[in-house]
Amino acid sequence: MRLSQFHLHTSKETPAEAEIVSHKLMLKAGMIRKLAAGLYTWSPLGLRVLRKVERAVREEMDAAGAIEVLMPSVQPKELWEETGRWEKFGGQLLKIQDRKEAWYCYGPTAEEVITDFARTELASYKQLPVNFYQVQTKFRDEIRPRFGVMRAREFLMKDAYSFHVSDEDLGREYRNMYDTYGRIFTRLGLKFRAVFADTGAIGGSASHEFHVLADSGEDAIAFSDGSDYAANVELAEAVSPGPRPAAAEALRRVDTPTQKTCEDVAALLGIALQRTVKSVAIVGADGEGQPQFALALVRGDHTVNEIKLSKLAGLGEYRLATEAEILEHLGANPGFLGPVAPAKPIRVIADRSVAALADFVVGANDNGYHLAGVNWGRDLAEPGEVADIRNAVAGDPSPDGQGTLGIARGIEVGHVFQLGRKYAEAMKLTVLDETGKAATPAMGCYGIGVSRIVAAAIEQNHDEAGICWPEAMAPWAAVVCVINPKNDAAVAEAALALYRDLNAAGVETALDDRGLRPGAMFADMELIGVPHRIVVSERGLAAGTYEYRQRRAAEAENLDRERLFQRLG
Ligand code: ATP
Ligand code: MG
Ligand code: MG
Ligand code: MG
Repeated sequence: MRLSQFHLHTSKETPAEAEIVSHKLMLKAGMIRKLAAGLYTWSPLGLRVLRKVERAVREEMDAAGAIEVLMPSVQPKELWEETGRWEKFGGQLLKIQDRKEAWYCYGPTAEEVITDFARTELASYKQLPVNFYQVQTKFRDEIRPRFGVMRAREFLMKDAYSFHVSDEDLGREYRNMYDTYGRIFTRLGLKFRAVFADTGAIGGSASHEFHVLADSGEDAIAFSDGSDYAANVELAEAVSPGPRPAAAEALRRVDTPTQKTCEDVAALLGIALQRTVKSVAIVGADGEGQPQFALALVRGDHTVNEIKLSKLAGLGEYRLATEAEILEHLGANPGFLGPVAPAKPIRVIADRSVAALADFVVGANDNGYHLAGVNWGRDLAEPGEVADIRNAVAGDPSPDGQGTLGIARGIEVGHVFQLGRKYAEAMKLTVLDETGKAATPAMGCYGIGVSRIVAAAIEQNHDEAGICWPEAMAPWAAVVCVINPKNDAAVAEAALALYRDLNAAGVETALDDRGLRPGAMFADMELIGVPHRIVVSERGLAAGTYEYRQRRAAEAENLDRERLFQRLG
């Protein structure tokens, strides 16, 4: 690619709206441009990187035996009603109507569509196992899209779905995908960690998340120092054996002795959720070993059954409450509903900072600790806010009885689930087994945030000058920079020849023949993160050398042609 014929649009200004380094650098490098909240155009430069990630994912999925398909991004409501998710999925589901007023959604995921495909395609156990995947645009109406493509509303995901005659065979493919994910993230040059995870709204039995380790990550990961145990903090809390003195101590430390009423808590939740909170119920008392319930009813497009009942600091049960349970509980405890109890002040001991990560707003009144659970808190976290809650599991024993938990931050880039038969049963997918009887296949699903990986890689690989792409993701492996191309025909010609020779030798190379001054040209190439830079100048030509610099190297070196090709080969 000759950059004089490409579209590069870099900027020296640091964009004010960007909070984290990857978002800043992607805007400065001109990789993405915002269209509206959570919607981005990928520029020619950005798209080159996105395609590199896509290619690595596709090649490794193909090598692992998965088969590519392409499903529509718009999905009919009827399919989602079969699994009950039209109502249950919550506010992230973008619902749309066609001219006949029939309802559709823009797919946030594709379990329903693939199960429907399987219903018509799979008839016999002989066709199993099979793993279908696609790389397709998804839309989730995130409550707070932010950090550019890191948490966008429209984003690119690789999603795969496998079908099996037995649970054992599902387990085998799950392991296959787990290993494949390891190969993908290793090939992309990322430092990552696989952790046990909650199965959440997708459901199923076993689940692991893959996190790129980065301080700006929205997720906290609990690691054991005595074993391989690693989990996301949500899960570590859920399974961590109580009592939890370290967590209780951490909660005391973030205690702010403000007296709050239920109405105040509702207002606080409203701020955190950016929604009007109709009422808050903070139910149950600690200390006497009573069951804990905590919930908020939120006006707006969230369904209450997303709300978590939490176990934090050994205070109660961790599970999802159903809407019926919550309503039943409220019916039985009318005194706890919303603004009903202003007479009993509630001390908010940690509001947004805890909500940020652990999905909880924690309140206490004179009777002890109480929790108001907010399932969406994590989506509202500011970088840095997670620090408070880190303390809440750090130092706890591990769940597997070996070692003590420490906490690191990560960015979720992949997620694998053993779904079991949840979708197949709901949608009546069966195949004939060896004995000729109808059997319900077990399913797995496997997601990778292709576009998020681009941002996550920058969080891990940058310096003051800009992006330092891992080789596999770089827009070009190398760039040949020409000093003074307009006035020096010999230099321009030599640079063009080198650029052609490098490409012919399989080194994907750009030619910076835009005629910029050296300083501006080098700054651009460092900003956009090209791993290898070669400068062709009159002086170098006279000496028979090229000035070569690896992106992270402190100094440039002069290499003759043979050594240059060796270095890049
Ligand atoms: P998160 O916890 O970050 O909201 P998720 O658990 O909701 O992600 P999954 O349903 O597991 O996401 O989807 C698979 C992958 O898609 C995630 O691991 C992540 O890499 C990516 N992803 C999810 N939501 C977004 C988003 N809003 N923007 C970009 N990538 C996303
Ligand atoms: Mg999400
Ligand atoms: Mg997640
Ligand atoms: Mg996930």
